[in-house]
Amino acid sequence: MNLEKLKSKVRNVPDFPIPGIQFKDVTTLFKDAETLRELSDALYEMYRDKGITKVVGIESRGFIMGPLLAERLNAGFIPIRKPGKLPAAVYEETYEKEYGPDAIQVHQDAIGEGETVLLHDDLLATGGTMAGAVRLIENFKPKKIYVNFLIELEDLNGREAFPPEIEVDSLIKYEA
Ligand code: AMP
Repeated sequence: MNLEKLKSKVRNVPDFPIPGIQFKDVTTLFKDAETLRELSDALYEMYRDKGITKVVGIESRGFIMGPLLAERLNAGFIPIRKPGKLPAAVYEETYEKEYGPDAIQVHQDAIGEGETVLLHDDLLATGGTMAGAVRLIENFKPKKIYVNFLIELEDLNGREAFPPEIEVDSLIKYEA
């Protein structure tokens, strides 16, 4: 897979949703059939031998590649959602993100003890969202947690938001 070619397919939208943010739009990655297949293949190769039993996607852009990858890994898919969306009993975490404070929830019966879990989202900025998601998933006492992003904004040092035992990986890296 050609990473520079993948990078060239990401649309940069300046000042969205607020002034000063360089928004990385992944819809331009997904709309092209060949690129979508390349993304799916790359993610599958990264995680095929890890014994993943659940893929967890973060609302909402983690709901695109997350289920595709879960199906290929023969794993289940679990959504992490904003408050008020999941109908049954939930765990909740609050966290700080680039645009202000927020909260996320997961169903309390989503994952069994001792499972191997891959958390996926489109982009790592400060890491606040995914660090909250990791804390949520730790409620289930998993055997191991992997964290994956399509895009990483390296200058924001988001990786520092995670404890060392969490394996963090991304496909496309931006320095500035
Ligand atoms: P953070 O918690 O700071 O790592 O922010 C990550 C979350 O916010 C992800 O769900 C992203 O979809 C979204 N996000 C933050 N910054 C950007 C950006 N520059 N471009 C696109 N999405 C972003």
